[in-house]
Amino acid sequence: MRKKIVAGNWKMNCLLEEGQKLTSEIVNMIKDEPIKDVQVILNPPFVHLHGVKKLIAGVDNIYLGAQNCSDQNSGAYTGETSAAMLTSFGAEFVIIGHSERRAMFNESNELLTEKTKQALSNNLTPIFCCGEPLEIREAGTHEAYVTKQLTESLFGFSEEEVKKLVIAYEPIWAIGTGKTASSDQAQEMHSAIRQHLSSKYGKTVAEGISILYGGSCKPDNAKEIFSKADVDGGLIGGASLKSRDFVDIAKSF
Ligand code: PEP
Repeated sequence: MRKKIVAGNWKMNCLLEEGQKLTSEIVNMIKDEPIKDVQVILNPPFVHLHGVKKLIAGVDNIYLGAQNCSDQNSGAYTGETSAAMLTSFGAEFVIIGHSERRAMFNESNELLTEKTKQALSNNLTPIFCCGEPLEIREAGTHEAYVTKQLTESLFGFSEEEVKKLVIAYEPIWAIGTGKTASSDQAQEMHSAIRQHLSSKYGKTVAEGISILYGGSCKPDNAKEIFSKADVDGGLIGGASLKSRDFVDIAKSF
C-alpha cells in the first residue's frame, strides 16, 4: 500500500511567532483528532526548522521537511543550506524542484538531479515537483512536458533510489490561482506519471511511489481529488497556512 501524504509548503511566510502559533495549532488538532495512516509534513522556511521540530516532537505522523536544499555538500556557498544540515536539524523530507524555484531561480532539470542526489545521500525523502505551465496545457502537450522533466532529472537514478522518492504533480496554472485541476485531470496526469516511471523501473516500483497533487487544494476539493486511484495526497501551499484548513485536508482521505 502506498503512503498517503499531506505536505504543507509555507513558502516565504510566517514570522517567528506566526510559525510557532501555526505549528502549535496543527499539533493540538492532530492530538485531539488523530489522523491515522496519513503522513503530515510541515515544510517551513529554514529559519523555522528548529522551532517546528521541537513543537512536533513526539506527535505521531507529523514530520519535518524543508523547501529546498543545495546541490553542494558544504563550503563557500553563501546563503545556501545543505541536505546534511537539514538532516541534522531533524528534517526527513525536502521539496525539490518546486515550480517557483524552477521559474524564479532558474533551477534546471540537471541541477535538480544534483539536489535529489544530495537529499538521498543524506537520508532525506525528496518531494520531487513537476508540472506544466498554462500554455503547455492549452497546447495539449502537458504529458510530454512533465514526463520529460522526470526523465531528465530522475532517470539516471537506480531502482533503489527512485523507490525512495515522493513525486508531486503541480500544474503551474493551478498554483496559488484558486483554479484547481479537476479530479479527472489530476488522475489522468498521475496515471501518466506512474506509467512513465513503470516504463523505466517496472510496475512494482512505480506502484509503490506516492504521487501528490498540488494546486489550490482546499478542504472543499481535497476529498474528491484524493479519491482518485493514483492520487496519494497533496502538496498544499496557501491552505497550509490555515491550521484548520490544513488539518481538514489531511483528514480528506
Ligand atoms: C504549492 O505552491 O505547492 C501549492 C500547491 O500552492 P497552492 O496550494 O497555494 O496552490
